Amino acid sequence: METQMKEALFWSEEKEGARCHLCPHHCLVREGKSGICGARAVRDGKLVSLNYGRVAGMAIDPIEKKPLFHFYPGSRIFSIGTLGCNLHCPFCQNAGLSRFFDGYGGKSEDIDFVSVEELVGLVERSQGERMVAYTYSEPIVWYEYVLEAMEECHKRGIKNVLVTNGYIEAEPLEKWLPFLDAANVDLKSFREEGYRKLGGSLAPVKTTIRRLFEAGVHVEVTTLVVPGVSDSLLEMEELSSWLASLSPEIPFHLSRYFPHYRYQEPPTAIDLLHRMREVAKRHLHHVYVGNVMEDASTFCAGCGQLLIRRTGYQVDVVGLEKGKCLHCGRSLWGRYAD
Ligand code: SF4
Repeated sequence: METQMKEALFWSEEKEGARCHLCPHHCLVREGKSGICGARAVRDGKLVSLNYGRVAGMAIDPIEKKPLFHFYPGSRIFSIGTLGCNLHCPFCQNAGLSRFFDGYGGKSEDIDFVSVEELVGLVERSQGERMVAYTYSEPIVWYEYVLEAMEECHKRGIKNVLVTNGYIEAEPLEKWLPFLDAANVDLKSFREEGYRKLGGSLAPVKTTIRRLFEAGVHVEVTTLVVPGVSDSLLEMEELSSWLASLSPEIPFHLSRYFPHYRYQEPPTAIDLLHRMREVAKRHLHHVYVGNVMEDASTFCAGCGQLLIRRTGYQVDVVGLEKGKCLHCGRSLWGRYAD
């Protein structure tokens, strides 16, 4: 495997090593060691990115898989991901990538180095739309590569999409914003106590969602409903009410959990997901249940007309023209083909 270590952005020198300022952990990293994410380490007194250009997953996916339901529905998006994560969810559905640096998952020989130029070439020659998703594991932890790739894609009219836990500091986020078109943020719990179980905190994630929305990035939010972590109806009431205070138009996805990695509680009960959806719908116009085999169509919040029919990844835009309901003319918040 070709590797290319890159000096990290957002760090400062300290007597004991280097302090990383990329995410709210603010790790103090000593020589030869790495931070909580495993992806940033100190070498010769400098903080470096260990996963710069290290592409561990690459595919062309339906955009609904991110999930993004109100961003060019029915499109296919070039998707890439790396290794490492700055949260430690015991139920991680992608632990082979996120926990790679802890020795869980594949071998480093299986991971390709893909330069930004190569990536852009692959996107331009692909059969998907001109869109790239930074996804699969946590894009924050290969920040420098994503920044360079987003900048280059943006220059060439390729859209950039993040699928993220939102656990990032304000300054690095600002640097991404001019190149970012859409994001799905995983809001894992609406309790500090819930986030503590995952090795993080809630407040910075709320700040990220707010900032993305205010900056005009298309935002959708996902909550994986995990028994014992994020399965309270009261919490759902508070979460959806807060999200609606930004805008009731923000699409919200409730996703079904399945046992994985170190968490063996049974899968989320379908009935609970439905009750949570009812609670969220008191505040938000578009609430979807995911990871289940059922209808996830979009209806007009004004007249109830069917706008986008979804059966699995089969998507038909049936009642929408230029982002407006064909029946009553109400706009559907999001981005749509002309
Ligand atoms: S990005 Fe990684 S090294 Fe930097 S503060 Fe966050 S967890 Fe620590």
